[in-house]
Amino acid sequence: MSFKKENKPVKENELVKNRDYEITIEDMGNDGEGIGHIDGMTVFVKDTVIGDVALIKIIKVKKSIAYGRLVNLIRPSEFRVEPMCPKARSCGGCVMQHVSYERQKQYKWDKVRNCLQRIGGVEAPETIMEPVYGMEDPYHYRNKAQFPVGRDKDGKVVIGFYAGRTHQIIDTDDCAIGVPVNKEIIRIVRAFAEKYNVSTYDEVTGKGLVRHILTRIGFTTGEIMVCLIINGNKNDIPHVDELVERLAGIEGMTSICININREKTNRILGDKCVTLWGQSYITDYIGNVKYHISPLSFYQVNPVQTKVLYDKALEYADLSGDEIVWDMYCGIGTISLFLAQKARKVYGVEIVPQAIEDAKNNAKLNGFDNVEFYVGKAEEVVPKMYRQGGDAAKADVVVVDPPRKGCDAVLLDTLVAMAPKRIVYVSCDPATLARDVKYLRENGYDLEKVAAVDQFCHSSHVETVILLSRADR
Ligand code: SAH
Repeated sequence: MSFKKENKPVKENELVKNRDYEITIEDMGNDGEGIGHIDGMTVFVKDTVIGDVALIKIIKVKKSIAYGRLVNLIRPSEFRVEPMCPKARSCGGCVMQHVSYERQKQYKWDKVRNCLQRIGGVEAPETIMEPVYGMEDPYHYRNKAQFPVGRDKDGKVVIGFYAGRTHQIIDTDDCAIGVPVNKEIIRIVRAFAEKYNVSTYDEVTGKGLVRHILTRIGFTTGEIMVCLIINGNKNDIPHVDELVERLAGIEGMTSICININREKTNRILGDKCVTLWGQSYITDYIGNVKYHISPLSFYQVNPVQTKVLYDKALEYADLSGDEIVWDMYCGIGTISLFLAQKARKVYGVEIVPQAIEDAKNNAKLNGFDNVEFYVGKAEEVVPKMYRQGGDAAKADVVVVDPPRKGCDAVLLDTLVAMAPKRIVYVSCDPATLARDVKYLRENGYDLEKVAAVDQFCHSSHVETVILLSRADR
């Protein structure tokens, strides 16, 4: 027996921090990290992939698990590829760019399957699961980017991404999942900030002007928005007209604005926007439905896959044109308007008042008069309307698209009481989806169909849409 510094005895085979070990990666964890075993301990290693044999350094040891850092590969996995982005490993964004896209899709499908089986109690979920819906070209898919702006220790302007788990800015002018025009926008802002020595925001002191660059692009329209998030106002930017002129020269530029955020906070956007040039919004379509997007609007970031996801939700909803439909957790009404094309009436509920404002405007913009939106918690609004009776209480189909924590228990109870023929559940977290599936299966619903859609290629996240039907229909 040997002794550590603090004189605690080290058991034989206990992993030692900062020591190197060889490991074979046998599985993939929830956050896309590799998992292997050393002396009976489960070890999580970021930047590895199933099949890798690697040398790792142990960085943290807990009771039965440990964390390691990849030192070098001894024998790379057959699923390993060269990441498109040279900064992929240091950037906190893409955790799986080193994994072949085929294997990423398999990982996501497995994740949904395993949750449905282990948490949802579904036997053999693979028999009702569709193949995962991936992208033909899984790069440059994001229609929105937020680049932090700062200075390095030599005072040079840095623009790019936060490193994983920290707020250190990785300087880059490109991103493999963002649109190519971002490069041009970053180049212009960087050159401008250097030329006029424009101050950049310092998170520690809360001083300095430029905090972030937000870019948005309408994939179907080509319209571009640039929003500079600043700790000040328009007049604080020296020679602002020159910056605007440079940015306005980019083909497709439609909106140039600033957002004012004077708070010492991690929140990127403040509440107030001022348009400097062009419109205050850009326009985009998902399918036939048109949306106005302002800097503060919530809008899905992968419009191509969003269409795939919503088409699937619509397919599962199986509407004939005569149904009463609820869209719960409706955001800016994206799914509601998709459903409204084929339903008699759609009711939407959402907690954020601004999102409901957008939803109402979008309904008007598209000429829908068969949608009604409510602000509030779904678990409060829906039970109240159910008690009141009337059309809203007689839903034929309900769509839910809750945040990661899943549906509230009160809402699930109300759903069961409302007894719609079909429930279409759109989820960004298969674990809470599976938990809610368990409850609904125990209360009169059958799980009929499951589709996983890859909305966030190179991340570990997966979107799922499922169909539950009343067992006694
Ligand atoms: N269906 C929308 C948005 C889904 S994201 C779309 O596809 O664009 C989940 C939404 O649920 C968010 O807009 C969030 O604001 C909202 N939300 C969170 N908690 C809620 C609650 N308790 N009741 C109603 N909406 C809620």
